[in-house]
Parts: sequence; C-alpha cells; structure tokens
Amino acid sequence: MSDTKLYPVPAEFAQNSLLNDSAYQAMYKHSINDPEAFWREQGQIVDWIKPYSQVKNTSFQPGSIDIKWFQDGKLNVSANCLDRHLKDNANKTAIIWEGDNPADSEKLTYQDVYEKVCQFSNALKAQGIKKGDVVCLYMPMIPEAAIAMLACTRIGAVHTIVFAGFSAGALAERINNCGAKLVITADEGVRAGRIIRLKDCVDKALAKPQVTSVNNVIVFARTKADIAWHEGRDLWWHDVVKDQPSECEPEAMNAEDPLFILYTSGSTGKPKGVLHTTGGYLVYATMTFKYVFDHQDSDVFWCTADVGWITGHSYLVYGPLANAATTVLFEGVPNYPDTARMSQVIDKHQVTTLYTAPTAIRALMAKGDDAIAGTKRTSLRLMGSVGEPINPEAWRWYYNTIGNSSTPIVDTWWQTETGGILITPLPGATALKPGSATRPFFGISPALVDNEGNLLEGENEGNLVILDSWPGQMRGIYGDESRFEEAYFSTFPNMYCTGDGAKRDADGYYWITGRVDDVLNVSGHRMGTAEIESALVSHSKIAEAAVVGVPHDIKGQGIYAYVTLNAGEKADDALEAEVKQWVRNEIGAIATPDTLHWTQALPKTRSGKIMRRILRKIATNDTDSLGDTSTLADPSVVDTLIAEKQNA
Ligand code: ATP
Ligand code: MG
Repeated sequence: MSDTKLYPVPAEFAQNSLLNDSAYQAMYKHSINDPEAFWREQGQIVDWIKPYSQVKNTSFQPGSIDIKWFQDGKLNVSANCLDRHLKDNANKTAIIWEGDNPADSEKLTYQDVYEKVCQFSNALKAQGIKKGDVVCLYMPMIPEAAIAMLACTRIGAVHTIVFAGFSAGALAERINNCGAKLVITADEGVRAGRIIRLKDCVDKALAKPQVTSVNNVIVFARTKADIAWHEGRDLWWHDVVKDQPSECEPEAMNAEDPLFILYTSGSTGKPKGVLHTTGGYLVYATMTFKYVFDHQDSDVFWCTADVGWITGHSYLVYGPLANAATTVLFEGVPNYPDTARMSQVIDKHQVTTLYTAPTAIRALMAKGDDAIAGTKRTSLRLMGSVGEPINPEAWRWYYNTIGNSSTPIVDTWWQTETGGILITPLPGATALKPGSATRPFFGISPALVDNEGNLLEGENEGNLVILDSWPGQMRGIYGDESRFEEAYFSTFPNMYCTGDGAKRDADGYYWITGRVDDVLNVSGHRMGTAEIESALVSHSKIAEAAVVGVPHDIKGQGIYAYVTLNAGEKADDALEAEVKQWVRNEIGAIATPDTLHWTQALPKTRSGKIMRRILRKIATNDTDSLGDTSTLADPSVVDTLIAEKQNA
C-alpha cells in the first residue's frame, strides 16, 4: 500500500453522477441492515411477468447450502433487454460492432436486435430446442453472438459459451459436461488479422466418440470460406432464420430457472461449470452496471472482454442491454493493426466508458505513448479494470495516458461465481486509491478471516470471504452438486470463500492481494504475489512480472520472479542487481527476489490471467505433471520457460 495518494471524485463528475458518497453510505447501510427490504425494492429494476412475493431465501449453513432469490417471480431476460425498451428507445443504437479490420463497423438499433432475436428464437424452436435444453455457443465477437444468447433466454434455453479460441478437446469436454443439444458457431473467426477455423474445430469436437448429445450445428457465415458440411446435422444461420417471423412470445421463466452455465478460466485448476439462474442474476447485473458505470442515457459503453468470459456476459451483453445502453462489441484485439487501436476505437465511436483488463493495459503501457498516437480520447468519462489486481503503476499509466489524467477508474473485483461486481468504487461516490478495489457494492458484506476462520477486524490482511448471499451469486456447479459446497463453503463454515486474499486499510478500503494459494511465506512473513509484482512492474524497464514461492532452506520460502522487459530493453547482471535493489527499496529486504528469470512471455489463460500454478512448477523443476493446461492461451510459452530454466 505504498501509494496513498487519493484521487477524489472530480467535481464535474460528482455533479452529474447517480450517487454521491452520502447516498452510497446510506444505501449501503440499508442494504446490509435490511437486505429483504432493500432487494424487494431493487428487484424492481427489471420487469416481472409475475411479481415476486418472496425475496431472499438463502442459507450458507454447512449441509444445507441453499440460495434462492425472488423465488416465486417470473420474468424473461430478453424481454428485459429488448422489448421493454422499444417504447422509448426503438431507434437507439443497442450494439455498435467494430470489426477486426478497422474499415468494418455496423450499428444495430434496439428494434433491429429485437427482430433478429425473435427470428432466431423461432429458428431455435423450429430445431426442437425447448425450455431447459442446453445450447453451446462457440462464436466469434460478432453481433450474432449476443443475438444467439438473447434468443436462448427468450425461449428458456440455457446457454453455455465456450471461448472461440479453445481447442476441439476443450470444446468437446464442455459440451459433454453440460449435454448440449445444439452448437452455434461461425464458419471462421477473424482476430488480429488471423483466421480461426471455428467450424473445423466444432467438427473435430463432435467427431469425438464421447460427444453424443448434439443434434444440430447452426453456422453463421462470417467469412464465407469453404467448410466441411455434415448434411442433416449442419444448418446455415441465414437459412434457419429466412422465413421466421420477427415476433416471438418470450417464455415466462421462474426466477430460479437456469439461465446459463459458464466454465471458469481455470487459473487454479480444472474449470468449474458455474450455474447462474434468471431473476437474481439479471437484477444484480442490471443494478451493478447502472451504478458502477454511473450509466447515463448518452453513454457509449465499451467492454473489451470476450462473450466467452463472465465479464462478457454481465457487462458486454446483459447489464448494458437491460439498461438500454449502447454497447460496443469488438471483434479484434487492442493492439492490431497497430498499438493505438484501442484509442482509435474510442475516438471513432466516441466511447464514454471503457472497461478492460490489466493484461491489456500492461501490454499497451510497455509501448508507451504509441498506445495513444494520433488520438484524443476526450469522449471518455469513466474507465474500468477487471480480471486481476491492477498494480498502481499500470493504474497511473491508464489514468494519465489513456484517460488524459481526468477520467476516474473503477477497479472492479468479482468472479465468474459472483455473477456481477462485488467490490468496486462508485465513480461519483468513492475517492480512488490506485491498486485498491475500495468498497463493497450494495448488499455485499465482505470480511477477512485468518486460516482458522476467525474474523479479523479493522486494518488487517487475510482470506477474503463474503458473509451473506447476494442475488447474482452462482447456484451450483453444473452436474456436481457436492463440489459446490466443498469448493466454496467448506473452508470457512457459514461464509462464501472467494479463494482470494485481501488487505483492508484504515479507511476500510479493500486491496486484493491475489489468490490465497499464491500467498508467499518468507521467513514467517506472509506476502501476496500482487505486492511484489507491483513493485517489479513499477520499475521503468519492466513490462510484466509474476512471482511464485519456491522451497528455501532458511527462509521457508524463497521468491522466484519471472520478468518481461519493455520493448528494446536488455537483461544483464547490472539490471538484475538494480531490480533486486529496487524491490528492496519499494517494499523491504524481505521481499527481495532470490531469483529473477528473464523471459519474453508469461503463461496466461485465454482470459489473460497469469497461471502462477504452472510457474510454481517450472520454478521447482516439477514439470512432469503441469495439471490442467487446456485453458492456456499459448502452450509454447511453457516449453520456452522450461528450457530457459534448464539452461539457467
Ligand atoms: P478458476 O476459478 O478456474 O481458477 P479464475 O478464478 O481465473 O479461474 P474468473 O472467475 O474469471 O476465473 O476470475 C476471478 C478471479 O480473478 C478472482 O477470484 C480474482 O483472483 C481475479 N480478479 C478479478 N478481478 C479482479 C480485480 N479487480 N482485482 C484483483 N483480482 C481480480
Ligand atoms: Mg476462480
């Protein structure tokens, strides 16, 4: 917590924002003191086909974990995202699509999306898809991904989106796990100028003998490339929607009917099939979107996450559309065709709110001012970060460079399991501290506990737990009831265990220190990986760093740091000494890395998170069983690191 400079709410921002600090305080208190009354009122943020009389039926008690919200209400997600906006916003832009190629973009109004969703819903029904059936999406970032999601929700089908960069094996495993009846894909995807043969991959997955649940594959013609065709199984999107009416009665879903299954990133092990249900999830996504991003009618909101991640579900599609916002859906990557692409897109579409990840920010930061060359970014009024702890250095670069030193940043902490944001600044209410996710959202009661589960008070550090349920909470692990309780409620009874560590400072602000499994214990001192990595990255020559603990005869654990340098920098003995001294000065002698491993790239999940469990194994030469590496973005990085370690 070296950086204590406060960034107060800018006066201009405060004037127009939805909530100021005293409003936040009052609402927060109410939400904790009387959750039943608070959520009874807030549940009205969405439209109900049948109003709920029950609000909160939840228990974290061992042996009887039960989470139900708005249990007797009925609603439809697509009707909330589309139909209810047609009266006032039919001609408002719902989706701005920006293609991988900067020459390609397209705008769809709420009316357009409504009609396309209805047509596709009818098409799904015509293929025999019914309420409760599971539909797998393996889609590039095109409007049809959102349209397919919404169509599933309209007819009560449960979607499961698999990131369209996963291998056929990973796809097959997920299809099998959830018993999907239908797969929706495209002929090919386009990303950073490269072609991804999506349909080939689906064919390969479905050819595996263990995959028997899929009857049909609907293929959207994205590039119109030649693809193999399985007569009787494969159908073109344009054929199945051709004669379908652009009206489709939305199914009245029970609040606790399943909405989607989504597999976690697999940073800590085998991915979990997280199940979310309809009412609570939608209320929570809608409300967090509104307040965390201080939604204004004229906003253009850009979340750079892929639809295959929870962030893409809650803040690219459901949260924005339920609020009648304009959401940008980007096919490409932040640095293609050149380093300034993200900034160019902001200017092109006059983006007001940008929501991205530290991994993208650090990659751009390594290129310095090239990331903003030729752009103004004056339309921005708010920026967000999600996915990993954002180190203060990257925070400040994001703030000063992308945000022109005038745009507040919401550092939002949450998980696939939580459905929506749990700890975050509210931009009109919260003074910011770089690197801190700050305070809980409404209805969230975070706490810190020691390893025995004792509550820690005041300024402290420990395991981050949540003491009571909130509407967006996951309801189970699909097909594995017992793993749910074991994974989240058994370590500390009567609490939801997040698996993350955190510090709480004197102002009650939370600082996420990383995953509990990654915490180091050096000579009896517990240290989060985030803190040491943050010190490393604040060195002007370092682009990224990942720290793991290795057994050490004297200290118990030693510090092994993987470091990548900024473009044009060279590693040598002098730099090694300098960097070690740097960390000493920043944190203290105790945090000095024992080993610096210079490398070109770190192993990351497809969602951009560093996989420290693999780095731990490489550092200890324990590379025979690396565990589940199926969600790695680039497996060759691992081979390079192993070779570097052996040659060191
Ligand atoms: P798995 O659970 O399969 O190991 P995962 O935890 O990476 O995968 P996600 O649900 O995508 O899957 O990620 C949630 C995790 O990301 C959080 O538990 C936390 O460790 C990290 N995280 C997300 N946002 C933030 C943030 N703003 N600050 C710090 N950490 C964050
Ligand atoms: Mg996790």
